[in-house]
Amino acid sequence: MAFIEVENLMVSYGDTVAIDEISFTLEAGVIGLIGPNGAGKTTLIRTFLGFIRPVKGKIVISGLTLPKEILKVRAIVGHMPEREVVSPKVTAVSFLVYCGRLVGMSYVDALERSHEVLNYVGLQEARYRPMQTYSTGMLQRVKLAQAILHDPKILILDEPTNGLDPDGRLEMLQLIREISEQRGVTTILSTHLLPDVQNLCSQIVVLKKGKLVFCGSLQSLIESRVNHYEVSVQPPIEPFKEELIKMGINFQELPQDILSLQLPENIQQQEIFHCARRAGTTVRSFVPAGGNLAELFQTKLEKKEGS
Ligand code: ADP
Repeated sequence: MAFIEVENLMVSYGDTVAIDEISFTLEAGVIGLIGPNGAGKTTLIRTFLGFIRPVKGKIVISGLTLPKEILKVRAIVGHMPEREVVSPKVTAVSFLVYCGRLVGMSYVDALERSHEVLNYVGLQEARYRPMQTYSTGMLQRVKLAQAILHDPKILILDEPTNGLDPDGRLEMLQLIREISEQRGVTTILSTHLLPDVQNLCSQIVVLKKGKLVFCGSLQSLIESRVNHYEVSVQPPIEPFKEELIKMGINFQELPQDILSLQLPENIQQQEIFHCARRAGTTVRSFVPAGGNLAELFQTKLEKKEGS
């Protein structure tokens, strides 16, 4: 059984449809949730956390059905929001003890557990200072500590590396990796930073304007580029483009008159050269498209726009 199952999910704010009938399934592991602004990422997270009730559709997380079993879901989910959640005048220890008490721990358990998670995220003596004295990196660590305080099975992280310098970012990614690998926590990472996704995630969900663009393993996204080439021809390129269209070969225009094209299975590479000849031009370069993640997403997002 899939770890997360979403079926025909639709979520609206009044007349604005933020999630438009999407369906996907995900296995346990580290999952990247990506898409441009307004794609519906935050809405999906808020729906998973039970803050928004869907208009329709089904969500099952680790065998629990939403919204019916929301309290059970909340007990197993940790959430690191993008916005600041800490109180400036309070110390990290006091803040975490308060969070522990909120989820029903005794004072002693909450205190013990707070120190445990603060050790884990590497916040040392600073834990006894008011949080208004913290750097962005320290605040991000406190947010992560509160998300893992109750030992969740699932961790939802919203832009966890936001505002961090390069070293801080790598440390945060390493911590997330450790939490998911060593503690077996399924992690959903919502980010606009594709290198973070490439670094950590085995599965990805790509949204755009509330629609599902892609869901699957990173590997399958890369493999979807089989038979994908970048071609440039001696100008003018218009007749060449017309020949490609006649042959039913889809392409996208990249800068510098490069065409990114997907060859259907029944068409051989030589056909590109024949198209160029018929168009009265010659091929200048013909190379397999790279596995650059940013470009892969761009292609997927553009396809969705055109479809
Ligand atoms: P993302 O997190 O990917 O940027 P959001 O989930 O925040 O996307 O937004 C999805 C869509 O829902 C957008 O069109 C956004 O304008 C709209 N939206 C988000 N929050 C609200 C809200 N509180 N009220 C009305 N519309 C909203």
